[in-house]
Amino acid sequence: MSATADASLFDKVVNLAKRRGFVFPSAEIYGGFRSTYDYGPLGVLMLRNVKDAWWRAMVQERDDVVGLDAAILSPPAVWEASGHLANFTDPLVDCRECHERFRLDKLDDPDVCPSCGAKGSFTEARQFNLMFRTHAGPVEGAGHEVYLRPETAQGMFLNFKNVLETSRKKPPFGIAQVGKSFRNEITPGNFVFRTREFEQMEMEFFVPPGEADQWYEYWCRERHEWYLRYGINPELLRLRPHDADELSHYSSGTSDVEFLFPWGWDELEGIANRGDFDLTQHAKHSGERLEYFDQTSGAHYVPHVIEPAAGATRTMMAFLMAAYAEDEVNGEARTVLRLHHRLAPYQIAVLPLSKKDTLTPVAREVFTRLTPHFMCDYDETQAIGRRYRRQDEVGTPFCITVDFESLEDRAVTIRERDSMAQERVQIDDLLPLFRERLA
Ligand code: ATP
Repeated sequence: MSATADASLFDKVVNLAKRRGFVFPSAEIYGGFRSTYDYGPLGVLMLRNVKDAWWRAMVQERDDVVGLDAAILSPPAVWEASGHLANFTDPLVDCRECHERFRLDKLDDPDVCPSCGAKGSFTEARQFNLMFRTHAGPVEGAGHEVYLRPETAQGMFLNFKNVLETSRKKPPFGIAQVGKSFRNEITPGNFVFRTREFEQMEMEFFVPPGEADQWYEYWCRERHEWYLRYGINPELLRLRPHDADELSHYSSGTSDVEFLFPWGWDELEGIANRGDFDLTQHAKHSGERLEYFDQTSGAHYVPHVIEPAAGATRTMMAFLMAAYAEDEVNGEARTVLRLHHRLAPYQIAVLPLSKKDTLTPVAREVFTRLTPHFMCDYDETQAIGRRYRRQDEVGTPFCITVDFESLEDRAVTIRERDSMAQERVQIDDLLPLFRERLA
């Protein structure tokens, strides 16, 4: 049986995200700022974990990919060469009846306004460039224009030569980057799915031209598996190759990793076989040779590029939706985020059974022993059952309860989030045990 989208999940996850400090509407005390969000105490932890999990798979666990952190501000020449100034546009239409704006290519029916239902009320489509433009220094105008990057990818192409010369890598090799990108989206929405300011995780993999197809297939598989490894149910995930009419002119193949969001299948990541388009364009516009000299063949060539491009903020939302569950414990409803332990904001919560001073030193000792290794919460307020529920709701995989017996036997109770199984463990054994279970 194939999975179906659950429409009620959207509100549940958005409410939980706000209530528990994952994601807040930005500038809320001033009435909010449309489709802009801040990541709260738990959201910042989880977003970091998503980015770390990507970095671990793409950089740390490999010897053929290196990292980069390039500038966000960039001169028009970059975007002239990349084609963004001319082509990074969406078709914009206005409804003459209700004056709402839409992206023509995202409308279910290009003749009917989804906001007021009017038929044939749209203006002619205008191409709208999505880049944010500003100026550097005190003077505005020509010669001072700069752009906020709409993708992180160009930083990798601009530094291709620098990395090649300093890293001793040779094709096939990649450059990876995680960071903010900005797009003046016509219709941001669906919570953090589409925002004007967001974070991307992108990698450009430079390969000998003859190996491009095989590396494209390789990265499609790798990236699909990454989401599964971090706990997304295979029924909620698919790899969708683009039809020929969806491909950009330079791409010989693109596939999207798609997630079944409450509104249907939608993109988490695109993997594209970009040919030599990017390096050739920048070589032409900058006058630099952006090639690799192959000593074995004695020839220069322009590497082809395979690009897996994912969104960190969008992916965090997908992980939240995939993890959200409601079950029943002793006749009481429980909300639980079944997050992979590497993605959960806290890995461990230390909970002294009562607020009595006698328990505090031992509970604090446990907390201090574990915090250098894991992100831990410490919570001593309210009944223990309610504290367990609170941790379940934010996805904490393990709770440790310190009780009065702990003072005698130097042992504590560990409770696992999903099975709720409890076991008694010596304080001295906690670190090796968690090192194994939270690896
Ligand atoms: P879309 O068709 O949804 O506008 P895209 O195909 O233009 O997206 P890419 O340019 O391939 O997206 O960007 C790579 C990834 O960056 C996307 O798969 C997505 O996860 C993320 N991303 C792109 N635009 C946004 C946005 N406005 N808000 C949040 N994430 C985004």
